[in-house]
Amino acid sequence: MSRTLLSVLLAFAIAAPCTAHASLTPEQARAREIYSKLIAYDTSAGHGQVPVMAGYLAQQFRDAGFPESDIHLLPLGETASLVVRLRGNGSGGKPILLMAHMDVVAADPKDWQRDPFTLIEENGYFFGRGTSDVKDGVATLSATLLRMKAEGFVPTRDLVIVFTGDEETEMATTQDLVNKHRDLLDAEYALNADGGGGTLEEDGKARTYSIQTAEKTYADFELTVHNPGGHSSWPRADNAIYELADALKKVQAYRFPTQWNDTTLAEFAAEGAVAPGEVGAAMRAFAKNPRDTAAADVLARTPAHVGRISTTCVATMLRGGHGKNALPQSATANINCRIFPGVAIAQVQKTLQDVVGKGVEVTTIDHPTASDASPLRPDLMEAVTRAVHTIHPGVQIVPNQASGASDGLYFRAAGIPTYGVAGMFSKESDAFAHGLNERVPVQGFYDALDYWYVLLKDLAGH
Ligand SMILES: [Zn+2]
Repeated sequence: MSRTLLSVLLAFAIAAPCTAHASLTPEQARAREIYSKLIAYDTSAGHGQVPVMAGYLAQQFRDAGFPESDIHLLPLGETASLVVRLRGNGSGGKPILLMAHMDVVAADPKDWQRDPFTLIEENGYFFGRGTSDVKDGVATLSATLLRMKAEGFVPTRDLVIVFTGDEETEMATTQDLVNKHRDLLDAEYALNADGGGGTLEEDGKARTYSIQTAEKTYADFELTVHNPGGHSSWPRADNAIYELADALKKVQAYRFPTQWNDTTLAEFAAEGAVAPGEVGAAMRAFAKNPRDTAAADVLARTPAHVGRISTTCVATMLRGGHGKNALPQSATANINCRIFPGVAIAQVQKTLQDVVGKGVEVTTIDHPTASDASPLRPDLMEAVTRAVHTIHPGVQIVPNQASGASDGLYFRAAGIPTYGVAGMFSKESDAFAHGLNERVPVQGFYDALDYWYVLLKDLAGH
């Protein structure tokens, strides 16, 4: 083999791993590199890797020239949060927070087709735990601020990255930030990469984009009936199990009042325009007049929609009695509630107490936090629309109220309006967050990178 040929072959061998990404811009390559580093940390609960990953990110910001005083790595137990500030000149008003979480749901490599902790690009997808929930958000937000810094861009207001460390489990880092580091969070509102986003049809055409503006509050209550009990051969008229059963029938029969906010009406108007049949008609009627009780009745009968127009409470677990031959001394049922934004937890407890009557004890389990819906700010809605339309021109933008809860709950409860405005578009059939073989479309990742840059320049540019 000639020396020239050998060197040509060597050069090719060295260059080969890069050829797959040869068409990436420097910004895309940098974002991909960060993404790939992030996926490699197993940041599921109990592995202590969140602070290590946060340390890696902090170093990227340090290397890019962010002063130490604007980088806050805040450990909490085995996890941590990271707050990084890109200073603005203040002419545009109060800061904007940019949120995502660094932790992921556990993934057992034995169950996956590919290593969950290696970013694998295959057939137009990025595979790996956290590729969609939500290390894509962590990577694109970080890369965007690093790019702005490198370009010497001075925003009109501070842009503040707030990455939490246990969104999937305790949300203790979020509560710690809100309770103990409020000075770092002083902001007009927060944009959350872990909410909202676009839906693609199966043929890849953009269907809709949703902005998440509200989340229902999760709360559990226990109904308990106590009784002196006794020997089952001497049954008495009162009985803890019978009385609990009576109370549960009352909860079953009770329907919480119909409620709505800006998001409810906007959502039903948009969905009703395409939804078929009786339910579609009810959505359109409700959007026009939420006091239309016939429309509300149709929606309340539909499991997928009842929770969108009211608080819901439903029995989920039972325990009672202590022996087959003993009268029960107590009987308890768990009632799981999804509370409409803006309704206090104590209010729901009181309603349940009124429904079941005095003989039944109603207690709140754990420490649920209620939050209100964030107002649909026209300036933000318009900026998000412009940014989304640079990727998918003309796609409809729809506000959305989530039935679950994320970090945004605590921010909203602390008075910081929070908007889930992820830049990712994906197909419903590609939704594997929390599951096996989590993935996102490669194009969606790079589009989201462009989207954040356009959106933040719009909201904090000159
Ligand atoms: Zn998430």
